[in-house]
Amino acid sequence: MSQKNLIKILVALEKFQNTEFKSIEDQDAGIQKLMNIKAEIMKNTTTISDYWDCDCKENYIHPASENSCKLCNTFREDQPDSRLVEVINHSIM
Ligand SMILES: [Zn+2]
Repeated sequence: MSQKNLIKILVALEKFQNTEFKSIEDQDAGIQKLMNIKAEIMKNTTTISDYWDCDCKENYIHPASENSCKLCNTFREDQPDSRLVEVINHSIM
């Protein structure tokens, strides 16, 4: 998981801990909200056309300005766009 997504969860968690719930139902709703944030991050398949994936096992994210990967012989036009989540992870490392 990327650092950015982790921060998003931590902020939500802190908010949850600092909230005084008036009822069990309110508390359940708060927990549900946290779970929704986590689920949304984990299943995020948004792609970004500024980057594409080659077939290499590592360093497979290429900027759109590169037309091919010389290591695995793939071309941008044949390959899928990168997932936003992976680009975020990649740029943090
Ligand atoms: Zn490659």
